[in-house]
Amino acid sequence: MHRLNKFAMLPLLLPSFVALAPAAPDSPKPEDFVTVQKGTLPIILSAPHGGRKKVPDVPERVGKGLKNFQTVLDTNTAEMTEKLVAELEKALDGKPWVVIARFERKYADVNRSAEQGYESDKAKPYYDAYHSALESACKAVRKQHRRGILLDIHGNGVHPGAICRGTLNGKTVTLLKERDGWAAINGKNSVLGRMEKLGYKIMPPGNAQNTAKEERQFTGGFIVSNYGSHTAYAIDAIQLEFGSILRNKNTYATTAKDLAEAIRVFHDSYLK
Ligand SMILES: [Zn+2]
Repeated sequence: MHRLNKFAMLPLLLPSFVALAPAAPDSPKPEDFVTVQKGTLPIILSAPHGGRKKVPDVPERVGKGLKNFQTVLDTNTAEMTEKLVAELEKALDGKPWVVIARFERKYADVNRSAEQGYESDKAKPYYDAYHSALESACKAVRKQHRRGILLDIHGNGVHPGAICRGTLNGKTVTLLKERDGWAAINGKNSVLGRMEKLGYKIMPPGNAQNTAKEERQFTGGFIVSNYGSHTAYAIDAIQLEFGSILRNKNTYATTAKDLAEAIRVFHDSYLK
């Protein structure tokens, strides 16, 4: 009875309710769907697939005719990257550059070319917001430091306990290899080498031949291909694919802390 009475009252309450209702929110701004931080260090962190936000008015992609079409969330990679930023700022005297997608991958996939990353003109501003921030970061780091590292943070479910390296089999770290050799990519003071030392399984492992091929599905997507040091951006770029065990709600903070330590060691060895 009580419920019924309440509903019966509703028409009477309506005028005041309408008066109190907030004005319609402004239309969404693409910048609100990408977290950007300008940095001071020669370190750029990108996390393109951890977004959880719906984008109003943008239709979901269907991927017609695309071979490598994915809409799956890289769970907790946005959260892990945020934690990594905080840990890095404690470990190093400065701030990394950061670009984190907050929109869901089903609207735009920024780790694909523009042709393959979105289907609707309405999605373009979101795709562009990510890449203009990343492009600016690469240019600024190149200008200020002459060299730098871009780490593109992902999640994979194929190797749940491992971290897979993606450099197009060494191509996207061309300058780093020329300057410091493969040790800077898989040696004890490299990012992945240090993670291995901290107990993580790395693919390919540190003791593999330099010519050992990276995992076929995870050799690197559009981001490392587009900004890596084989291009005019000249930023050494590594795609890091974290297995699901390493980034669940109980583990991602520890993984981020260890990764910050690995990046600190790499920074002190190769970027100073
Ligand atoms: Zn991904």
